[in-house]
Amino acid sequence: MEEIKCSCGGMFQYLGPEFLRTGNIQFLVDKDVEEKCIPCQLYVCDQCRALRLCADTPWVVQRRAWWAQERHHVERNQQLDQNRFHAFLKTFAGFSSQKLERIAGGGLFSGYDEVGQAAARQLLEERKANPDAAPREQEHVQPEPRPSWTRRKNSKPPWER
Ligand SMILES: [Zn+2]
Repeated sequence: MEEIKCSCGGMFQYLGPEFLRTGNIQFLVDKDVEEKCIPCQLYVCDQCRALRLCADTPWVVQRRAWWAQERHHVERNQQLDQNRFHAFLKTFAGFSSQKLERIAGGGLFSGYDEVGQAAARQLLEERKANPDAAPREQEHVQPEPRPSWTRRKNSKPPWER
C-alpha cells in the first residue's frame, strides 16, 4: 500500500474499502442503486483525522468512458435547464411572494418541476435580501368597498341630496 502524506504533515492510514453513495435519494425501487455508489478505498490521517477517499481503478475507467460518451448530451441538457431557469425568472418576476412560496414548495400538483421551483426560490431569496424590489402584490389588495349609494342608478351622493 503506497504511503500518502496529508497536508498537515501526518500520514494516511488505510481503513479498508468504502462505498460513496451518489445521486438523488430514490423513493421508488431503483434497480440501478448499486451503480449509484462509487467504490473507494478509505484512508484517515493519523494526525488530523482528515479522510481521504480514492476511487477504485475499474470504476474510474468506466466513468471516464461514460463521460466521454455522455458529456455532450449532459451539457446540452444543463444548457436547456439553464435557459428554462432564466425564462422562469422572467415569468415569475411579477408574481406575489405567496404565489412564489407555493411554487417553491413543490408538491405533486404544483405544476412546476425542480427548475421552476429553484427559480421561485431564487426570487424569494432576492426579495428577502432586498424587500423594496418586490412587486406590489396586486392579487392580495382588497378593493375599497364601494359606498352603498353608488349601487342605485341615478341616486345622488349623500352630500348632494
Ligand atoms: Zn492530516
